[in-house]
Amino acid sequence: MYKKRGASIDATDGPLRWSSSGEFSEQPAVAETTPSIAETGPEPSSGTAAPIFETTLEPAPPRRAPRKEPVPMPSADEILEAIDGSLAALAANAPAIDAEGKFPDDNLDILADIGAFALVASPEHGGAGASLTQLARACEAVGGACASTGMVFLMHSVTVATLQGGGGPAADAAVKDIVETRALATLAFSERGTGAHFYAPELKAETNGDGGVHVSGRKSFVTSGGQADYYLVLVQAAEEGADTYLMGKNDEGVTWNGSWEGLGMAGNSSIALEMDNVAFGPEKLVGAPGKAGELIFGTVAPWFLVGLSAVSVGIAQAAATAATEHIKGRSYESAGNLAEVQYIQHLVADMDLTARKARLLLHHAAGLGDSGDPGALVPIMEAKVAATEAAQDVTGIAMTATGGQGYTPSLPVERHFRDARAGAVMAPTNAVLRTWIGKALVGLPVP
Ligand SMILES: Cc1cc2nc3c(=O)[nH]c(=O)nc-3n(C[C@H](O)[C@H](O)[C@H](O)COP(=O)(O)OP(=O)(O)OC[C@H]3O[C@@H](n4cnc5c(N)ncnc54)[C@H](O)[C@@H]3O)c2cc1C
Repeated sequence: MYKKRGASIDATDGPLRWSSSGEFSEQPAVAETTPSIAETGPEPSSGTAAPIFETTLEPAPPRRAPRKEPVPMPSADEILEAIDGSLAALAANAPAIDAEGKFPDDNLDILADIGAFALVASPEHGGAGASLTQLARACEAVGGACASTGMVFLMHSVTVATLQGGGGPAADAAVKDIVETRALATLAFSERGTGAHFYAPELKAETNGDGGVHVSGRKSFVTSGGQADYYLVLVQAAEEGADTYLMGKNDEGVTWNGSWEGLGMAGNSSIALEMDNVAFGPEKLVGAPGKAGELIFGTVAPWFLVGLSAVSVGIAQAAATAATEHIKGRSYESAGNLAEVQYIQHLVADMDLTARKARLLLHHAAGLGDSGDPGALVPIMEAKVAATEAAQDVTGIAMTATGGQGYTPSLPVERHFRDARAGAVMAPTNAVLRTWIGKALVGLPVP
């Protein structure tokens, strides 16, 4: 059953608190008259708002059965080959995930079974040690088959890379656990108050007096929220700078709020996280104290931007392929085949050209990152802008080329069109990236 979308989304409501001069405004948020679905959660029968996921103090069971021992970890190339072999199954689940807005558990099980959860985990942690280029290949394939699954897989892989980049006892144990038990991870960075400027969080760690800290407040747009086992939470450090802490799904004080009602990526469960005095011991710190900014720009940025670019290229290619196949099979009794119309041929050419340009830019940028080129970040940022805009352009052309049939769920094109809108507004947004690219090119510090 097709579900109509377009309801309000969690943190999209409310004023910007970042002024054009680059300072955070002291203006309090304007009170809202109508709370969004994502803020209140689905309306319960009692009429009182209630979260859909609540923490319990009992340890939660692992989401998936551990890999059966002894199973040698496949190489990154073997995992990529297995992903290619699973694409038909992943794609077959995509329409229901989209229509029902359900978390893509079935697809994640397929990926976990072939070792993909450990794709970027280092060999020291028992993983496959994939490069940026290999992550790009995986994310393009998975994102093209099912964008919701691609988004969840992307956030998981970026988090694994970040845990390894930051290090620390909890991070090391979590990556090993991810490899062994196929646990799922994600990033909880965004906040309503900081929006596109997620790297400067307002949530602040307060010292506990026992060497640890506690954190209260709300994170928004947490992909796999309430579903993932591990969350890397970005906060202002108790002393100076910013820190990231590793949080478990069932840690005391954790509550998950609302449901995802976004235009696309229907199954990605990007929901709000409420933290009520959540305690973190010093071992839960990931990375050097106060240095989360370096982790964000040195590790999160390349892995996230490459992965999101690849999901976007996957969506673009999937739309181009679906539209082209439809065009080839569409004929009129009196006017021949749609494929013979020159205007339509131009649309097909533009879709292919746009997707190919974005893919080439992405692989060029990922290759520079893999080779440790000190100038890689600019092309990686450019790849995100190009790939997310290519996804929007190609899916738009595909909608035109497939006419009224493309406007309905009888073709996957309208799903790709909705899914394609997320990438450009995901932080760092394309507007912010253009500023950073420009600053870098004229020799100014970023951000
Ligand atoms: C599907 C999806 C999944 C997500 N998953 C995660 C996740 O797993 N973890 C997580 O932490 N976050 C996640 N996010 C959040 C995301 O990364 C952004 O933080 C969020 O989309 C910002 O939204 P906002 O409405 O607050 O943007 P706003 O900050 O309100 O920005 C609105 C517009 O203004 C522009 N703008 C703002 N400031 C400037 C400026 N200085 N210069 C130029 N333009 C500017 C922005 O580019 C944007 O176009 C997700 C978002 C989506 C849509």
